[in-house]
Amino acid sequence: MSEAFNYDVVVVGAGNAALCAAIASRENGASVLVLEKGPKIKRGGNSYFTDGAIRFAFNGLDDLRVVIPNITDEEAAKIVMPSYTKEKYYNDLMEATKKQSDPELANHLVNKSYETIKWMQSHKISFDLIYDNQSFEKNGKFHFWGGLPVKTSRKGVGLIQQLNDRAEELGIDVWYESPAVKINMKDGEVNSILVDKQSEETLVETKSIILACGSFEANKKLRAKYMGSEWEHAILRGTEFNTGDGLSMAMEVGVQPFGQWSMGHAIGTDANAPKVGDFTKPGDIFKKHSYPLGIMINKDGKRFVNEGADFRNYTYAKYGREILKQPSNIAYQIYDQQVRPMLRAEYDREEATFYQEDSIEELAAKLDVEQQQFIKTIKKYNNSVQDGDYDPTVKDGKGTKGITPPKSNWALKIEKGPFYAFPVTCGMTFCFGGIKANTNAEVLNEDGMPIKGLYAAGEMIGGIFYENYPGGSGLMSGAVFGKTAGTSSVAYIKDKVKNNIVN
Ligand SMILES: Cc1cc2nc3c(=O)[nH]c(=O)nc-3n(C[C@H](O)[C@H](O)[C@H](O)COP(=O)(O)OP(=O)(O)OC[C@H]3O[C@@H](n4cnc5c(N)ncnc54)[C@H](O)[C@@H]3O)c2cc1C
Repeated sequence: MSEAFNYDVVVVGAGNAALCAAIASRENGASVLVLEKGPKIKRGGNSYFTDGAIRFAFNGLDDLRVVIPNITDEEAAKIVMPSYTKEKYYNDLMEATKKQSDPELANHLVNKSYETIKWMQSHKISFDLIYDNQSFEKNGKFHFWGGLPVKTSRKGVGLIQQLNDRAEELGIDVWYESPAVKINMKDGEVNSILVDKQSEETLVETKSIILACGSFEANKKLRAKYMGSEWEHAILRGTEFNTGDGLSMAMEVGVQPFGQWSMGHAIGTDANAPKVGDFTKPGDIFKKHSYPLGIMINKDGKRFVNEGADFRNYTYAKYGREILKQPSNIAYQIYDQQVRPMLRAEYDREEATFYQEDSIEELAAKLDVEQQQFIKTIKKYNNSVQDGDYDPTVKDGKGTKGITPPKSNWALKIEKGPFYAFPVTCGMTFCFGGIKANTNAEVLNEDGMPIKGLYAAGEMIGGIFYENYPGGSGLMSGAVFGKTAGTSSVAYIKDKVKNNIVN
């Protein structure tokens, strides 16, 4: 074993939650070490791959201009920005999770969201409005909707760059290729952490550890064990390093598992997307979220979900799982020329896989499907489409009659060539399973008592998301609990010093 090191606080992971925790610890006076399992060129975890969409409560445009000071008066005059109150955020969270979200953790996330965004901005993290996808233009004004108008500048890439710049400025040490391996306790308190520092076993003495190293989405075996064998086949949208290390280290010292270990966030993604997130192609560029405008057909030539059940915000995180259940875990999104110009920008990217033919029969011949059934399904669907006013900006009720599953909104006949098929598979985003923490980000043992000196943030905390989540809440949860963990850990250390009981 090499020489021993000593830091007040050791943060495990170098994603958004971890770096917020590190910055909060440092600004409160602690010496801080960040441990990152991946190499520097693959730093940033899942946070790096995000579109940077971040959901927080605010009262109108004035609140947003505080954190986005470059919005000019001229620009502001063209914006219609409804408030997104704490109450609305909380209700959205409860609705998405079917009221399963832990009320205390949910309230902490919501209540601290805006002040945490302001705190991030004070640490030189910059934000922009999300004009595309979250607003529509009407009579020269941009009307925002959905409570998610803000992203970090240059998305996840910008967020991770700015957090690292700030960490460096504040004198926080970061060790890459240095996974944490084991938490050591002494007399019921955190005492040190064992690190595989560039393949050398290294002990770091510390009074406080903040676990912010993700859930187990990158671990196929654990996915199969906790979520079902089919989850081995899902491709991974983000980092390859979130293999559940933090969860197992925590459980070794008696931490309580918490949340929905049997489920995770998963979407329909390009069937040819990389098997794990490619750090050279960041950004959420493979997702395929325009299915409400078309239909989805599996290899047997059959439909399997109500594509128009609701706006994509409310179905996309569930439909990844439905695609996983289909033969070979694959489906084709089918569109015709009428809707092709309305598809989201990712459909026009050079990475997008698609087939284009002038007739349904020619298209069927190109795909790995039961051809006759495929053609029959589209004919049957076309015959079931009811009259009505088509309007993709509202739930228009223009649906089908007499087919199962139905399509409840935005049902247009697939009749104008050319016809398009986009193959999609299930892309795993992150697991909902985590460990139990309280609103001080203290990690709790099986008896519900805080483990002295141990904190958590981000995906590691279970019990906030179940079944689904309101988009943009992952980054917000990481930032809120990261800041809380950093502040709490330093308060704990100061308290120990004050009571003169430092090891
Ligand atoms: C493609 C994609 C798009 C997304 N888009 C959005 C979005 O727009 N908005 C949103 O809110 N959420 C989004 N999410 C979800 C969001 O990424 C996560 O909720 C959030 O980033 C998790 O942050 P975190 O800090 O907990 O974990 P991460 O950012 O994943 O960081 C965990 C870090 O821990 C490291 N690590 C793992 N094990 C160890 C170990 N043993 N020792 C040391 N380090 C270790 C990993 O290498 C990693 O760097 C998206 C996710 C993906 C994959």
